Parts: sequence; structure tokens; C-alpha cells
Amino acid sequence: MRRYGLYVYLFEEGSTRLRNLLGGKGADLAEMTGLGLPVPPGMTITTEACNYYNSHGSKFPDGLEDEIRVKIKALESRTQKTFGDAANPLLVSVRSGAPISMPGMMDTVLNLGLNDKTVKGVIRQTSDERFAYDDYRRFVQMFGKVVLGVKGDGFELIIRQHKEKLGVKSDVEVDATTWASLVQEFKGLIKKETGQDYPEDPWTQLQMAVAAVFRSWNGQRAVFYRLTNKIPETLGTAVNVQTMVFGNMGADSGTGVCFTRNPSSGEPKLFGEFLMNAQGEDVVAGIRTPKPIAQLADEMPTVYSQLLDVCKLLERHFREMQDIEFTVERGKLFILQTRSGKRTAPAAIRIAVDMVKERLLTKQQALLRILPSHIEQLVHRQIDPGFNAKPIATGLPASPGAATGKVIFDTDEAHSLGSSGEDVILVREETTPEDIHGMVAAKGVLTSRGGMTSHAAVVARGMGKPAVVGCEQIRIDLATDSMQTRKVTVKKNDIITIDGTTGNVLLGTVPTIEPRLSAEAQQLLSWADETRKLGVRGNADTPEGAALAREFGAGGIGLCRTERMFNEQDRLPLVQEMILSTTEEDRFRALEKLRPLQKEDFKQILRNMHDLPVTIRLLDLPLHEFLPKYEELAAEVASLKATGGDAELLDSKERMLRKVMTLAEHNPMLGHRGCRLAISHPEIYEMQTRAIFEAAGELQSEGVRVRVEIMLPLVGAANEIRFLREKITSVASKVMEEKRISIDYKIGTMIEVPRAALTADEIARYADFFSFGTNDLTQATFAFSRDDAEAKFFKDYFDKKILNSNPFEVLDREGVGRLMRLAVEAGRKSNPQLKVGICGEHGGEPSSVEFCHQLQLDYVSCSPYRVPVARLVAAQAEARERVISTSEN
Ligand code: PEP
Ligand code: MG
Repeated sequence: MRRYGLYVYLFEEGSTRLRNLLGGKGADLAEMTGLGLPVPPGMTITTEACNYYNSHGSKFPDGLEDEIRVKIKALESRTQKTFGDAANPLLVSVRSGAPISMPGMMDTVLNLGLNDKTVKGVIRQTSDERFAYDDYRRFVQMFGKVVLGVKGDGFELIIRQHKEKLGVKSDVEVDATTWASLVQEFKGLIKKETGQDYPEDPWTQLQMAVAAVFRSWNGQRAVFYRLTNKIPETLGTAVNVQTMVFGNMGADSGTGVCFTRNPSSGEPKLFGEFLMNAQGEDVVAGIRTPKPIAQLADEMPTVYSQLLDVCKLLERHFREMQDIEFTVERGKLFILQTRSGKRTAPAAIRIAVDMVKERLLTKQQALLRILPSHIEQLVHRQIDPGFNAKPIATGLPASPGAATGKVIFDTDEAHSLGSSGEDVILVREETTPEDIHGMVAAKGVLTSRGGMTSHAAVVARGMGKPAVVGCEQIRIDLATDSMQTRKVTVKKNDIITIDGTTGNVLLGTVPTIEPRLSAEAQQLLSWADETRKLGVRGNADTPEGAALAREFGAGGIGLCRTERMFNEQDRLPLVQEMILSTTEEDRFRALEKLRPLQKEDFKQILRNMHDLPVTIRLLDLPLHEFLPKYEELAAEVASLKATGGDAELLDSKERMLRKVMTLAEHNPMLGHRGCRLAISHPEIYEMQTRAIFEAAGELQSEGVRVRVEIMLPLVGAANEIRFLREKITSVASKVMEEKRISIDYKIGTMIEVPRAALTADEIARYADFFSFGTNDLTQATFAFSRDDAEAKFFKDYFDKKILNSNPFEVLDREGVGRLMRLAVEAGRKSNPQLKVGICGEHGGEPSSVEFCHQLQLDYVSCSPYRVPVARLVAAQAEARERVISTSEN
């Protein structure tokens, strides 16, 4: 049972501490009233009343109506007006206001209290008959739609007919008599459509409007908004009933909106606009062009300086940039609403940094004000937010940023055009390591198949190149060098723009804006570095990638994949020679040719990362990925045979074809790859180890400090790492002895096979570090194919709520995360020196980074472009914990 008198609060009785009960708007209005600001008097009906109404068959709780009457009396005595009075009527607005802002999702009724009698009072108050009847018809129209549920555009139709009759275009030209007769027609329409009479009694109007706002909590728009923004439905909405003030009472009245700082740049200067002699709606509706707020200083200097004081006070009070609505009624300033202002990413960062300097925020509070998406937006070229265009197709947003160029379907052609300075978008069904050179030369990549961790996605993210993958709405037709969507056909050389931040594909060129890590962003991230416990490294396999990771603040390289080095065009023939060799001697010879090339690769990366650790992962890919495709080879062999072509060429192609057939596997991802390959052919890892130590030795003699970490892929059993560790250590010692050098190095393993996580204690005996390869670990834990699941069935899984998010993007805490926790605990117990990190794609995804902080990993490693966001999120996770522990003490 509730005590009487607690469902309705006058603004002066509330505060922001009651946000759950009063909603955001009500709490802020109460807070402003408490601060002594000029807020039109009002009351808030609580969210509890709403919840009662919606759970008790649309019945008000006992006593609510009496409470409202008591509070209205209080408003009457404050305003010297009377609700429903024909001579001096009090009019109110009725608006929703949930505890979490849901802009525009629920209903609002303005000018409530008008009827055929009170409208006369308004004419007396305002001396403006046209205004009074315009307000009245707006009220009947709004009430009809929102409260009585009139559907369609019947009201608009009546207005249009009258305007045609008068021969006018704009509402402003409609006279008082016409509005007055429209009011009656509107009432007729309401009767016809709903069978109900329009309620003349203001108390009935108020009671019905409050009920309508309660009901709108369960309206379609609100329910959908809650679902998409994960807002609990149990919150309910409050209802604010506030006395109306009018900005259209003559030359000394007006209305406007202002932000306490520039929402686009963050500049600490008032920003906004106003209209003299106008109502709030006129600013929004764009009927008249508002003036910049600075001009208010000339037109109403006293009001302007009051407004500046209010802005300063509200900012200091809420410690947040505010978005304020105000009205001036006959020279008197009223504040109608304040809320924290929406802003762009650069503005959010500048405001947070400035507020620390102004001592409004601590560094940690400032860090918590920034959204990960703010930082993500800064490091990629973006489509100009002011540009609006319809996408021709939408795929998965695999690698953020925008890119524009000619559509090219052939990798070699993309390579040659891109290398000669043309902007191209490489469009493929899927990419493979053979497409790398085309991807490097292209501005962006679009694929019609594959998921967020497909080859195209991972490689593009690593290169910081925009990519849209798995765009199944396009069909590529290589025969006609074109691609089709349902609506358009795009031919080779046509220009498209891909937006890797949204997954959209657009026709033609689109205006974009430059990425940059501003001085403020760098300042903020340096505070993040002071705060965070979790290390952040970059995934990079080129010297440029390593340099970029360092520039973005990485504390090392957590994953340097070596496959790419084997795939470069000058290496591939040597790799194929090694694979095709039939004797050990031949294989050694081929590997010996590869070694100096690998050494140079390592040298450049290690030099760029001097003093910082670099984790080099030895070869992971299966050998057949370095050979041509079976179908292509078979066709070539058949054609050489049919045409009686070059016998030597035919022989080598046939040899290659036989090898391809021997190496073919039913499940290549579960096949002869990673450390398994090295157990069959240890000489590959031996060559790589030698190249690493030779590179490190040469750098050391140049005075460059190197810290090498050698990492083994796909380990699932302790004996695998034991066997390979021995081989690597022996080569390392041999090289160090030969060259008379001593290199600081570690040997560790990926944890990317469930069995490795389950036997982490044993594996840790041979490992200096673990690095979670959560791409493979997710694949193996779910038994979902990394390359197929997203395209084949994830949509059904999301639609039918089997999965809430894509586990290849957002770490699956319950399953994969549980294995990780197990491995961290068991690994550290058996080897207390063990360092643990993550280098799968999750290492740069905000919620997964937070989870890694909770698991107390030593570091996360991600693509260089995600390093800044990982630095922020790691700091936020720590800052949040500190806030919780201080509030508990
Ligand atoms: C992983 O599996 O998470 C990983 C980093 O390795 P790759 O993506 O190269 O298989
Ligand atoms: Mg892997």
C-alpha cells in the first residue's frame, strides 16, 4: 500500500536524486527549480504511477487524481491564474519523461486547458485572437491524435482545404476567424472518427492526457526504442505537467535553444539560435529562420546576460555540457528544459579535456564521459555526417572508414591500377591470401561473402583499410564484369563508396572528412595510460603497421603473423619450391633462399618497435594455401594436353596438381596447419627462428634494443610445445653462439584450441606466455566455421534470439570466456611468471577489452587502428572499478 501524497511532486519537491521516480526531464526541472532558476512552475507524476496504471488494467492508483488537484492548486497560487477559468486561465503542457532519455518516443500535449470559454481568456491575456485560436486548434489536433487516437491525416486535410480556399500557402497567413472555425471542424472530425465528444472540461482533458502518456510507454515506437537500446520496460515514464509560457506575446518575447558549448567542435562558447515573438515549435518547424544566439545580446542584452549566467550555473552544477530550451515572455526569461547535449566525437573529447582543466571533472570522470565510438571515429576517414544518401546495399561493417574508387573485380588489375595511383575498390566474392597485393593497392575492399573475421575483414582491419564484407545483397557476375543488387547494376570502373563503419555501399563519390588524433585526444589518451592496468599492443605484420601501432600508443606488437611474408609476390615461387621439393635437401635449399628475405622483414619490424616487445608468430597457414587452386590447375593441365603445349610446363603443372591433391583436406581449418605442420617439418620453424635471431643480432650491433617473443600457433597438447620449444631453443642458442650475441627472448603459445585452455597448467610449464587466439577459439568452442557461420545462419540466430551478438566480434563470456578464465588461473598457478594476453579480433572490441581487464590479463593486442579505443576502454574499466570500490567504502 502506498501512502497518500507520493505520486505527484511539485518541481520544488524533487531533485536529481529521484531520477528513477521523476524521470530525467522531471528530475532536471526539479533540480533547476531548486537552484532558483526561472522555471515555469509545474509538477511531475511519478514512474510508479505509470507502472501502476499499466499493470492494473489502465486504472489510476487511488488518490492520484486528488493529488493532481492539490498540486494544480499550488500552481494556480504561484501563477495567479486559474485552471479552467474563463477570464484568466492557466494552461499547461503535458509531457513524458523516462529515467533514461528516449527522445521523441512518447507523446506530448501542449496548451491543455483550452476550450470554447478559456480561449476567450487567452485572447484577453495575449491581446492576440489569431494566436489564441491557432493555439486552440493545435491543442484540439494534438489531443485528437495523441489522446483520442485519431488516425490518418484528416486534420491536415481540413487545414489544406481552408488554405486553398483562402489562396494562401503558409499557416502564418491563416487568420483568426479561419482558425476558430477549424476548431469546430476538428471537433466534428474527432466525433466522426472516434465516436467520442471532445472533452470541454479541462480536468477531464488533463486526466485523459496523463493516461495517454502512461499508455505511450507501451506504444510501438517506445517499445522498439527500448528493445534496440536495451532499456528495461519496468522503468516506466513520468509525466510532467508544466504551466505554459508564451514566447509570442509581442516584440519583447521570444524563444530559443542553446548549447553551453559548441556541440560540433566543443569550443567553450554559447551556441544556439532564437526567434523573437515566436513559439518553440516555430524554431523546430523552420517556418521562420532563427537568428544566431549571439545576436540576442543586441536585441535583449539583459536577457542574454541572464542566459549566460544560467548556462554557467547549469554547467557547473551538472558538470556537463547542457542543451537548454528557453522562452522569453514579455522580457522575462524562463528555462523550459535542460539536458546533457548531444555532441560529435571531437566535441566530446575537447569538452571532457577542457572540463578537467577547468576543474569541473577529474581525469577519470573525463575518461568515463567518452564513448568508445568517439575514439573509433577519430582514426578513420569518415563520410561527412551532413551527407545523406541511400545505400545500394548493406553488408557487415568489417573495417571502419570510408573509401571511394572504381569497382575492380580482378585482383591483379586492382593491383596494377592502384599502384599507378588510381583509386580502386576491390570487389570479390571472398578474398584469400592470393588477393593481398590487390588489397594493398586498393582504397577499400568489398566482398559478397564471409564474416567479421573472414580473411578480407581481418586483413583489411590490419591494414586500416575500409572494408564491407558478407554483402549478400550483391551478386558478382565475372562473365559480364558487373555486380547486381536488387535495384542497380554496377559495372567495372563505375565509382562506388563503401562505408566500413556502417556497412553501407553507395553509388558514386561521397564527401568525406579527414581522420585525426587531435591534441585533446592525445591528452585524454595519456590520462587513459596513467589509469589503466591492462597493456595494449598492436597486431602488425609489416613495418608500416608496426610504426602505426606505435604512433597510436601500442606498448608492443602482440601478434606479428608471418603468413603474409610468405605470400608476397617475390616469395611465393620460393615457398612453392619448398612445398614441391621431394627430398629434404631440396627443401632446405628452398628454405635457405627464403631466410634472408624473412630476416629483412623481421629486422624492419623489430627496428620500428625498438625497446618494446614483439610477438612473432611462426607459420600458421596450411601449405596448400600457397598453391594455386585445384580447379584452375586442372583446367590449365587439360588445355596444355589438348593443345599439345610445352611439355616441360605440362610436367611442372602436373606435379603441382598432384601435390595440390595430396595436400587437400576435408576440414582445412582443423587440418595440417600451425604447430602440427612444424612437427612434421620442423625445418620451417627452424628457418624462421634463425631469421629472427640473425635479425635481432644485427640490430643489436647497431645499438637497437630488441625484445623478441616467439609464438606457436594451434597448440593443443603440452607435448607439441615441449617438442617445438626444444627445437627453437636449440637453433636460438646456436645462432647466438655463432654470432656471439645474447638476445632477450621468450617462447610462448597461442591458446586457440579448447584443449589448450583445458590443459593450460601442463602447457604453461613450457610457455613464457599465453596469447588467446579468440578467432580460432570461438570457432572451435562453438564449432562454428569462421568463414561460413556469419553468412549462412547468424541472421536467423539473431532474429530468433538464439544469439544476442556475433561471437566473432563480441567475446562470448559464458563459453569462450569461461575457457579463458580457466586457462588464466591454471596457467598462472603452474607458472607464476606466465604473461597472458589476447590477440584475436576481440582484443580491440570495447566490451571484450573490458572482460580482459576483469580477467586480469596482462595485455590486449589488436589492429593498430583499434589501439586508441582499447587504451580508453582499459582505462574506463579500471576507473569504473575504482568508483565502485570508493562508493562501497
Ligand atoms: C586467432 O585465431 O584468434 C588468431 C589471432 O589467429 P588467426 O586469426 O591468424 O587464426
Ligand atoms: Mg588462429
